[in-house]
Amino acid sequence: MMGNILDGKQTSLDLQDEIARKVKSITASGGKKPHLAAVLIGNDAASKAYVGHKIKACAKAGFESTIISRDSNISQTELLQIVAELNCDESIDGFIVQLPLPDHLNSDEVLQAVSIEKDVDGFHPESVGRMALGLPGFLPATPAGILTLLKRYRIKTNGMHAVIVGRSDIVGNPIAALLRKNADPGNCTVTQCHSRTINLRDHTLRADILIVAVGKPNFITSDMVKEGAVVIDVGINRIDDPSRKSGARLTGDVDFEHVAPKCSWITPVPGGVGPMTIASLLENTLQASLSNAKS
Ligand code: NDP
Repeated sequence: MMGNILDGKQTSLDLQDEIARKVKSITASGGKKPHLAAVLIGNDAASKAYVGHKIKACAKAGFESTIISRDSNISQTELLQIVAELNCDESIDGFIVQLPLPDHLNSDEVLQAVSIEKDVDGFHPESVGRMALGLPGFLPATPAGILTLLKRYRIKTNGMHAVIVGRSDIVGNPIAALLRKNADPGNCTVTQCHSRTINLRDHTLRADILIVAVGKPNFITSDMVKEGAVVIDVGINRIDDPSRKSGARLTGDVDFEHVAPKCSWITPVPGGVGPMTIASLLENTLQASLSNAKS
């Protein structure tokens, strides 16, 4: 068996087209374009690239976008001031503060300062609580993107055993919470693993759906995957590749070459979860804009 590809790139383009059509009809009837702002602190190349992708996707979907870039030596007070201004700025529907922030900044405090109505990354504790309780609110973009991908490919989740490797607040924890909900996609029996898990392979081998968010290239090898499993690789790792002009390439956490032949479905990296994350951010921003228009 060769795993079928869960094509996040194409699915994300489809979603972005659908969003662009909605924006066209909103503006045609006199409504305003959704407007996303991104706060980018410092010079981290990966963060710059992620923000660049998000802004490009905004343009394609017909959104307005604004980047607020500041040097890495910005103070906590100055950053909180930017957040306060964005909270009050009626022209901005939603905004994100790109993580990670430089070490001297307290990201928890910054995320907690974001107004819940504009929290399109879904990282505010109230957004997290709403997600956990099943109340309306913004879902974090990466787990939401994974759910959309599973849904669009009609992957059966009901009753399946999902094994999540990773317990970060932005991926592992929320996807575990969402997949065990009484929902579709959802209704999984969830096992969550992390760096202290003993005999990780014993767990991953029992996964009908294996979701990996670790941040280590080729971490999941073919002996850790059950025949016919669905594998979602969230990892984005930059590794050396002298055959590339840039000298490097992106790879996931899964040894794709050897794992793909065993699974029923698998996400590639790049072109899997990454683009879905961006599409979900646009969906959240459109939602924020529609709620603003109503209030
Ligand atoms: P974190 O570093 O916050 O979390 C990594 C998790 O992996 C931790 O829970 C850690 O356990 C666990 N882990 C580390 N080593 C092991 C091990 N040997 N065995 C089992 N578990 C282990 O990362 P993120 O969740 O933020 O990101 C994970 C990956 O996903 C990264 O490559 C990141 O770049 C990528 N990413 C991709 C996105 C996308 O859009 N595609 C979005 C966000 C992230 P412990 O808690 O015990 O330390």
